[in-house]
Amino acid sequence: MLHIIYHPEYLNYSFGPGHPFWPQRAKIFLELIKRQKRFAYTLHTPAKAMRQDLELAHTREYLDRVMQLAKTRGALSIDTPVSEGILDAAYYCAGGTELASRLALEGKRVINLLGGLHHAGKNNASGFCIFNDHAIAIKKLQKQKKIKTAFVFDIDVHAGQGTQEIFYDDPTVFTLSIHQDPRTIYPGVGFPNETGDGKGKGFNRNIILAPGSGEAEFLQAVREGLSLHAKFNANFTVLVLGADTYKGDPLADIKLELESYQTLGRLFSKIKRMCVLCAGGYSKQVPEIWLAFLDGFLER
Ligand SMILES: [Zn+2]
Repeated sequence: MLHIIYHPEYLNYSFGPGHPFWPQRAKIFLELIKRQKRFAYTLHTPAKAMRQDLELAHTREYLDRVMQLAKTRGALSIDTPVSEGILDAAYYCAGGTELASRLALEGKRVINLLGGLHHAGKNNASGFCIFNDHAIAIKKLQKQKKIKTAFVFDIDVHAGQGTQEIFYDDPTVFTLSIHQDPRTIYPGVGFPNETGDGKGKGFNRNIILAPGSGEAEFLQAVREGLSLHAKFNANFTVLVLGADTYKGDPLADIKLELESYQTLGRLFSKIKRMCVLCAGGYSKQVPEIWLAFLDGFLER
């Protein structure tokens, strides 16, 4: 049984016409699984995240700035405008990942159809990310003493530099990001020599892939990540599932096939207490990509 987190407000995570992020992908995915009956699932509607929870990962100054910008329809960066509609959707997204993490700790297989907004840092954001939903969820579980350690396994095509920044000096959260060489793609940081700071030294890893890399290179990097994951032995894992590693993605240059995602799903199905977050992905194939991943993830 798969547990799917979705709120109709997710569809308002929309930055306007012509912007590459298309929130309708979640709705199309739900229509697809309803029609195809490939697996059994339950839908969960999340509540909004609380301001006090957002403060676990972001500074008050940043949050105040976001609220203010939303009122005046300003922008966090050139690619990330904010409005009250987008802000509401971001609150539900963070609430969705909190719910997903609670269900994952109960041993359920769970996916949030909007999450893994890994470009949001402590005090700034860009790259279509406003709140770092998974950093908030991890910090909340730690505060509630439900977990001590967590592992962020980020396979979006872009570096998860916001998440990296939030946990950079924290040895309790291992952050791993596998992505296209940042010299060739946004956000321009996330290199192998960025390995953490202070007590967190050694608990951040970036594995980079040359543009044009395909399934073989990508799976090799994932296997390397899985051995780091096994060694760290975290209480809880977050998978930031990017669909922007697909060969047809307009924003990136990694060449995974649709079937590659089934293989990925199979590899990640072995991890217990993990929630899957649907992050980047800008081609029209995103719903099929998620479906291919779940075919592997839910096998057996
Ligand atoms: Zn991405």
